[in-house]
Amino acid sequence: MTKTKALISGASVAGPALAYFLHREGYDVTVVERASGLRDTGYAVDFRGEAFDVLEELGILAEVREHDTKMRGTTLVDERGEEAGRLPAEVFAGELEVSKRVLTRILHRITVDAGVEYVFDDSISSLTEHGSGVTVEFERGATREFGLVFGADGLYSKVRQLTFGPHADKLRHLGMSGVGFSTANYLGLDRRGMLQHVKDTAIYLFSGEEADRLTVSLSFATASPALDRRDRHEQEQAVRAAFAGHVWEAPRLLEAMSEADDFYFSSACQVHMDRWSHGRVALLGDAGYCAAPTSGMGTSQALIGARALARHLAAANGDHATAFAGYEAELRPYVAENQAKGREAAATFGGAAPEGSDM
Ligand SMILES: Cc1cc2nc3c(=O)[nH]c(=O)nc-3n(C[C@H](O)[C@H](O)[C@H](O)COP(=O)(O)OP(=O)(O)OC[C@H]3O[C@@H](n4cnc5c(N)ncnc54)[C@H](O)[C@@H]3O)c2cc1C
Repeated sequence: MTKTKALISGASVAGPALAYFLHREGYDVTVVERASGLRDTGYAVDFRGEAFDVLEELGILAEVREHDTKMRGTTLVDERGEEAGRLPAEVFAGELEVSKRVLTRILHRITVDAGVEYVFDDSISSLTEHGSGVTVEFERGATREFGLVFGADGLYSKVRQLTFGPHADKLRHLGMSGVGFSTANYLGLDRRGMLQHVKDTAIYLFSGEEADRLTVSLSFATASPALDRRDRHEQEQAVRAAFAGHVWEAPRLLEAMSEADDFYFSSACQVHMDRWSHGRVALLGDAGYCAAPTSGMGTSQALIGARALARHLAAANGDHATAFAGYEAELRPYVAENQAKGREAAATFGGAAPEGSDM
């Protein structure tokens, strides 16, 4: 019997996890990733609840644990930088926390070892579904045929855009954005974080696995969600304006921001859709149901979604319509809970409307 060919767009968390499970079920799996290699984002991701079972099933729980940031908690500081309280490690680090780059590398390795094909530096440019499959055109590579196509390509998913239309009506901005980068650990933090939340801004600093580096996050309330698609200069200007007049570490951190080579900007957004699949195409992870970084659930959700999707495909024995319906029915309540958490956390921060605002 010929194997069903599956194409997954996105090689971060949801994509490689789904690749692993589908390959195990006998699919011939290809992952296409727009970046030229595995991405190196500096922030840490944490795992909660059932995500541990998924890590176990992927056979990587022990290895992931070896990279636990082992954070020891966060010191709260007031406007002037004086200690104002302490938060236990679980608040930001969950039950287990690793750098996102570590997780992505482990998932990539186990799937390559299993025989999954990776194509970097390319992107799907068109999807045409017909009776027995999907014809896929790429920006660079030759046109290919697949039985099923999955969008695990994040907040601005290309697969979602091609299948379900423009981003604008799927994304809800929660009223805050932020910049992340790393710099030398000049504060000497040792597996600890520091958080200063003043009015509509927050500075979060921590040093984890890489003792000589300080990971910096500068967040601020903004009604301009599209800032994440502007150029770096404009993004830096928005951050400077938000932190103008701040004391404590802000001036030094703003200087470090300009010099950082791992600068990234993100807007806290959620993805809301009536359906996560259409024909032979389905979405998972942030592409389908992003809960926003403020939920702390994005990585767990991506892993749990990948496993649920693969399980339903296996149970439906090739009937993708039944499988996709089962996947949605199972996952929707969990996603709704996580998205509510994401909105609540954003509302305590910068006064975002409880339901978010459409972009
Ligand atoms: C600043 C920040 C902090 C966060 N903190 C946490 C946290 O503490 N805990 C937590 O659980 N989660 C956190 N998250 C969320 C978490 O990173 C995501 O929810 C999770 O990574 C979702 O995984 P994903 O694979 O669905 O999507 P993503 O990780 O977004 O990956 C999408 C992949 O698709 C690729 N791609 C995009 N477009 C294309 C294209 N056209 N073709 C091919 N490939 C494409 C991208 O390059 C990327 O590799 C945070 C997110 C941010 C931005």
